[in-house]
Amino acid sequence: MVHNETNNGFKAPTTSSATSNNTFLDPKQATKHVKEYSSPDGLSADEIMDSRVNGGLTYNDFLILPGYIDFSASDVSLESRITRNIVLKTPFMSSPMDTVTETDMAINMALLGGVGVIHCNCSPEEQAEMVRKVKKFENGFITDPVCLTPNHTVADVHRIKAQFGYSGIPITGNGKLYSILLGMVTARDIQFHEDDTTLLKDVMTTDLVVAHEGVTLEEANQILRQSKRGKLPIINQRGELVALLARSDLLKNLNFPLASKSTHSKQLICAAAIGTKPDDKLRLKKLVDAGLDIVVLDSSQGNSSYQIEMIKYIKKTYGNSLDIIAGNVVTREQAAALIEVGADALRVGMGSGSICITQEIMAVGRPQGTAVYKVAQFANKFGIPVIADGGIQNVGHITKALALGASAVMMGSLLAGTTESPGEYFYHEGQRLKKYRGMGSLDAMERHCSPGTSVAPNNAAKRYFSERDAIKVAQGVAGAVIDKGSIRKFVPYLITGLQHGLQDIGAKSLCKLGEDVRNGKVRFELRTAAAQIEGGVHGLYSYEKRLFS
Ligand code: GDP
Ligand code: 5GP
Repeated sequence: MVHNETNNGFKAPTTSSATSNNTFLDPKQATKHVKEYSSPDGLSADEIMDSRVNGGLTYNDFLILPGYIDFSASDVSLESRITRNIVLKTPFMSSPMDTVTETDMAINMALLGGVGVIHCNCSPEEQAEMVRKVKKFENGFITDPVCLTPNHTVADVHRIKAQFGYSGIPITGNGKLYSILLGMVTARDIQFHEDDTTLLKDVMTTDLVVAHEGVTLEEANQILRQSKRGKLPIINQRGELVALLARSDLLKNLNFPLASKSTHSKQLICAAAIGTKPDDKLRLKKLVDAGLDIVVLDSSQGNSSYQIEMIKYIKKTYGNSLDIIAGNVVTREQAAALIEVGADALRVGMGSGSICITQEIMAVGRPQGTAVYKVAQFANKFGIPVIADGGIQNVGHITKALALGASAVMMGSLLAGTTESPGEYFYHEGQRLKKYRGMGSLDAMERHCSPGTSVAPNNAAKRYFSERDAIKVAQGVAGAVIDKGSIRKFVPYLITGLQHGLQDIGAKSLCKLGEDVRNGKVRFELRTAAAQIEGGVHGLYSYEKRLFS
């Protein structure tokens, strides 16, 4: 190594002269000397992402240089603001694709601290039902519990259990909320009851533990814990039922401490996608009625008059009660147009997805690393978070996307093929697989039916095609991915991997990572093609790549 840099009077010795003249610098002064170089090792984010010099970069084109560690990986906070009003404990989102996100994925993503975006390649009613199930999965106070009267029968409880999944039913005078609470029917009351026609007044429990209106959630949970009952009805001074609390929600709280929940209702946060055509306004109304928190405007090229009008309409109709993730965009100019009319976050990516052929066919798009950096750098000035969508192939890509300024990553292929993704597993040449297809693939468009649902009008088509097109030009492919098991194991792996990445960089939180990238402390370096080969497994006759245990 030959160094001859001169700064502030400091002359770094060449190795040869240092050896021959025995003029080594004092090792105890190494940190002081390193500061005397004109700039830290590596490049700043701005320097590496200068596309006039380096072209557009993907995640594989660069690395982040290591920093200083003085904390353990488990202490790294992954909390992140993913829209103007919503903060999550983990920066993960699942794509609105019919082979990725339906009810099960959305519930589990939220339980694990992220959020799932329910796809719209189905009828508005089906999509709204999925949102409703996510919102009803977990509660603080259940303010609209299903009630029955004493004259309903055991068969009615079975019906509710089959439809909604619970059988803890308050019995009130008229079978509604704000009517005198007379008893509770629980699974145990009817467990061995063979006669479905028995009236509930003959099986209900009347020896009740209740709490009174005005009780805080914390106090009510304490009463529930001590009561050893499954449900705690909350009544007002007149003895009328006003809410219900479920013991199973206490357990969910214990098991999923990172869960993404609305502040007031304590229900899981749910997002869903819609298009930008006039009938999407009706779809949105159904989703909002079902409790939607975030709407994603699903468009491959978001800078359009349709999307701008839709954002204006949503802001006018729903105000700040609904956050809008607009997109997709890959340039500052596209971003500016959507920020100006009220987007609460931007989804970034065009043609970077694993199933995309947009760049190949349309000749339009941008390498994802550059797209994320350029848009985030601009949008973050307005306090608008950016979601890096597509092209995430491993944990390292997540760390890089966040280092480039994204507040969250959206994943399709990485979450497809899990237990929670829609569709059935099948075997091909001994491999257990699940279908994964682009929403712009002819397969998704022509079959008009998602793997997990029965009816589905042609909504995927709207994202990629004009309805007036005589020929539909595909922008995606259909394929299959290998079984990845449950996201209950996979997402914790992503969390831990990301924490280790941040630890190596020397950032104890995503917030600190952003700060240190902006002030130039976090450094980057380009990877040549040879460096990329070196960075992968090489030189082995065979190996097995097990990612976590
Ligand atoms: P159950 O014992 O059969 O009633 O079911 P669990 O208590 O195990 O689960 C009920 C779950 O459904 C909890 O997470 C509740 O928050 C949720 N839930 C949502 N709406 C209602 C409702 O109207 N009634 C009841 N009982 N649970 C509800
Ligand atoms: P992945 O995580 O698999 O790399 O990418 C998922 C992302 O690809 C989605 O969130 C969405 O933005 C995008 N996408 C989904 N389907 C298609 C498609 O058919 N064509 C294109 N161009 N992009 C798609």
